[in-house]
Amino acid sequence: MNSDEAKLIALRILQENLPSLVSVDENALAKASFDGLKVAFTPSAVIRPKEAPQIGEVLKLANEFKIPVTTKGAGSSLTGGATPLKGGWVLDLSCLNTIDVDADNMLVRCGPGAVIGDIQQEVGEYGLFYPPDPSSKDFCTIGGNIACNAGGLRCVKYGVTRDYVLCLSGYLPTGEHVQWGRETRKFATGYNIRDLWIGSEGTLGVVSEAVLRLIAKPATQKTFLAAFQTDREALRAPIELSRLGIRPSILEFLDQWTVKSVQSFTGKEVFPGISPHPVLLIELDGDPDLIDKESIILENWLKEAAICSKTADSLKESEELWVVRRKASPAMKKMANTKLNEDVVVPLGKQINLVECVNSLREEFNLKIGVFGHCGDGNLHVNFMYNSDDVDETSRAVEALKLLMSKVNELGGAISGEHGIGLAKTPFIQMQFNTAEWETMTSIKKTLDPNGILNPGKIFDIFNPWDQKKVESILPWEYSHDEPKPVET
Ligand SMILES: Cc1cc2nc3c(=O)[nH]c(=O)nc-3n(C[C@H](O)[C@H](O)[C@H](O)COP(=O)(O)OP(=O)(O)OC[C@H]3O[C@@H](n4cnc5c(N)ncnc54)[C@H](O)[C@@H]3O)c2cc1C
Repeated sequence: MNSDEAKLIALRILQENLPSLVSVDENALAKASFDGLKVAFTPSAVIRPKEAPQIGEVLKLANEFKIPVTTKGAGSSLTGGATPLKGGWVLDLSCLNTIDVDADNMLVRCGPGAVIGDIQQEVGEYGLFYPPDPSSKDFCTIGGNIACNAGGLRCVKYGVTRDYVLCLSGYLPTGEHVQWGRETRKFATGYNIRDLWIGSEGTLGVVSEAVLRLIAKPATQKTFLAAFQTDREALRAPIELSRLGIRPSILEFLDQWTVKSVQSFTGKEVFPGISPHPVLLIELDGDPDLIDKESIILENWLKEAAICSKTADSLKESEELWVVRRKASPAMKKMANTKLNEDVVVPLGKQINLVECVNSLREEFNLKIGVFGHCGDGNLHVNFMYNSDDVDETSRAVEALKLLMSKVNELGGAISGEHGIGLAKTPFIQMQFNTAEWETMTSIKKTLDPNGILNPGKIFDIFNPWDQKKVESILPWEYSHDEPKPVET
């Protein structure tokens, strides 16, 4: 039997066994052919399980007939993680979206398709809090967040997805059911495959249920916006504030170039009468007493370190301070038809070296490059804007991007802090590992997925996103540039 015959037989068995779950119509296949990266590869079927064991059935069959399977949550991956590069089957888990709050034990059990915003809303009704908050929280799923070890704005105080996962149930690529971890606060029993699955981008197994740890909901929050003379002064904040004993829940940086771009986009000055400067957006949260105490220390620091600052005393005022951050991505998107968002991460004290590198790349290559993001974690988003139909500009952008990634590596950083490798970061991954490290990773993949059926082509094989034609499609969460939009990272 050749591989085309095997594919047809497997699809026929799949349709016989799970008739109501399998779609092969053109529309369904086109919709499942791409994600937030917008490069398309058409699958041969889309499967939407209604019950967890159906995941196992699909994988068993796919493994037997060596059919590639790409698991999908909301498809908001910015790296092509949920793109079915090798065709095959897309396993869409968005219908498995149950949320079961166990308030006594301060945990929640979720289906993989549960949307982060819905989880936060439901646990909030019990006075509980699930802190990880990717800006895509209104649509991205917990399965996708676990697969990418998603971060977001609040990680500086609360940590990333990994810090809240107690237990994962799921299926091996060969179709057997497994449970990694327990509903316990500690776990030191055997290899920690739970943490191996977290961040493995759907290449080692499929999550069918996650048990998440919850904490008490912070009572209130307070927002500050400050402008600094130089990048260096602003980027001292994570270390200085830690030394002063303050733990902001949000600590975001925008470089001068980004602030200038936002001002041209909105037609409003961030600090009226003051030319664009690097800014920090800072949020404190917790009990009012704690916020009062931390506010005094923070305001004193800002008086010394910043050139000016504003404080919000109401939610409305806070929203106004957020405008510069919320508009950063829309302002950049309007500049060109392509925006590459690199979510690099470097040690806290090395962020200034990264920003200085971007400043010189911008000059040397005559490119539009802006930096903003989670400086509390060293996770800065470097955005390259270029027109893909301009061959010269594209090649300058790619060249500059390569130099940026080398710099990140040289600074002891990582090429992705929260979006994962997917397809988009594969050209740079090998520089991050020596032979022993690389072989350790590839042998784990071979052991857990002997036929290489799960999300093939991701992480390990080189794929140049800039050589691909982009899908002309507006995803459900993409608003027009002038409408409110999620804060994009
Ligand atoms: C506007 C916008 C803002 C964003 N902001 C942030 C941010 O602040 N922080 C951040 O970290 N990311 C952010 N992202 C990126 C994206 O939302 C995250 O990577 C998110 O984790 C993807 O979730 P998803 O449900 O869309 O997963 P998908 O895109 O569907 O899949 C992502 C990966 O997860 C795998 N996967 C999905 N479900 C499962 C499962 N059940 N079992 C195993 N593997 C699975 C897929 O195979 C794929 O490799 C943003 C994206 C957009 C569009």
